[in-house]
Parts: sequence; C-alpha cells; structure tokens
Amino acid sequence: MSLPIAQQWYDTRRLDDRIWLITEPHVHPIFSANMHLVLGRDADLLIDSGMGIAPLRPVVDGLRDDPGKPLICLSSHTHVDHIGAAHEFEQRLVHPAEAEELANPSPYSLTSADIPAALVRLFLDAGYPPLWEYLINAVPVPDYDIAAYKIPAAPATGTVEDGDIIDLGDWQATVLHLPGHAPGQIGLWHPESGTLFGADAIYDGPLIVEDQETYANSLKRLRGLPIKRVHGGHDPTFDQTRCLEIIADYLTRWGRA
Ligand SMILES: [Zn+2]
Ligand SMILES: [Zn+2]
Repeated sequence: MSLPIAQQWYDTRRLDDRIWLITEPHVHPIFSANMHLVLGRDADLLIDSGMGIAPLRPVVDGLRDDPGKPLICLSSHTHVDHIGAAHEFEQRLVHPAEAEELANPSPYSLTSADIPAALVRLFLDAGYPPLWEYLINAVPVPDYDIAAYKIPAAPATGTVEDGDIIDLGDWQATVLHLPGHAPGQIGLWHPESGTLFGADAIYDGPLIVEDQETYANSLKRLRGLPIKRVHGGHDPTFDQTRCLEIIADYLTRWGRA
C-alpha cells in the first residue's frame, strides 16, 4: 500500500454569508459526505462530521469568527461517513433512534474488500462507481495506518426529534424526522430562507434506500415544503425544481407517486 499524501484533507467552501461546506475530496464518492457549518450569533452548528480520517475540529474552528462560542455537532444519522469526527465536539446531538450507534459505533474498514458484498451490491445498483482498493485515494499524514481506522465513541449529549428547534440566536431551524435511509435520519429546515439541509434523505445523487415505504413518506413530506434550495448530505446544492424532480423520480420508480 502506498497512497499519496494529501496536501490538505478537508476542502472548505463558503456557500453564503452564514454557511460553509466542508468536504473530503480524497474519500470515494460513496463515502464522501458534505459537512455544513452554520454560523450563528450565540452558537455555531456543525451538521455531520465526515469519516474521521483527519482531525476536523481545527478546520471547523478556523472558519468560525469566535472559536470560544458554543458549537453544536448535529449528526443527521449515524452512517460511517457522517459521524467520524463527532467525538471531537463537546455538544453532540442526534435522533434517539441513532443514539446507540453514536455511543457504540460499528467497526468499519477502509479496505474495500472488507465491505460486505450485499452492501457493495446496493451501492452499485444505486448507481455509484465501483469502489477503489481503499475507501480513500490518499492519506492525511505520512504515517497514517489504514488498518487502524476506527470510529471513536461519541455518546450523544442530547437528542433531537421531529419539530425540535435548533436555535443559534439569530437563526432557527426545525428538525425534520425523515426516515427511510436510516431509522433516525433527520433533516433541518430553515423556513426564513427556504433552505433545507437534506442530509441523506435527499441529495442530488443515487439515494440509498433502507425502507422504501417510509422513505416515500419522507419524500412526500418534503414535496409539501416551500423549499428554495437544498444542501444535501452528498453532492452539490440544488434548487426547488431539481428537488421536486428528484422526489418525483423516486416516487415514480417505486410506484408510490
Ligand atoms: Zn447515510
Ligand atoms: Zn451519506
């Protein structure tokens, strides 16, 4: 194994005056999730924390006006690509249905051969490109030990359910429970700007379905919201037209339109 050493592990991009996008370009597209940092007056909010391959906290703090301000790490659900660095943050929120996994993360390997065949099949059938030898095509530091990869426990310090408000002082968003991809999958809805943080409930790429009936209900619920833009858990941001197209596409495919 001799993977190149990444110049920097995380990419950061400002989406607007309040929201930053953080990504991991050296992670395979299936596992390369979006992290969003929302800057608030009284607190900042980090939505998801990636694979946990390189320290995330210094990168996040570098984007904040005041790193001394409270920082909430909200895990949209507990798949490996969304919770890796959750342990680096003191305030950790998750839906109750995902809390056990956050406290005791399942073992996961960066070696693709270790990934169960059924899961690989699911990814390929959904439309993702084939896996690489490893889930990464570079390492963050010269002595990085791929075999030692492990997600540290990050027990929730609080839970959030449908209808709960995340309040940053001058920015309030509502938690939406959107199961179907994961039992405790949540999204975050900011009505004032018509912004949805869709996480893995909706993004502009192949959706991974755990339960089609509940997933359909979640998508129907999103169809009824006056969404202007969606920052998904993967892939680029999209507008309302694209959002409705994605929803219609999947509901039709599933015969649940
Ligand atoms: Zn997921
Ligand atoms: Zn994901």
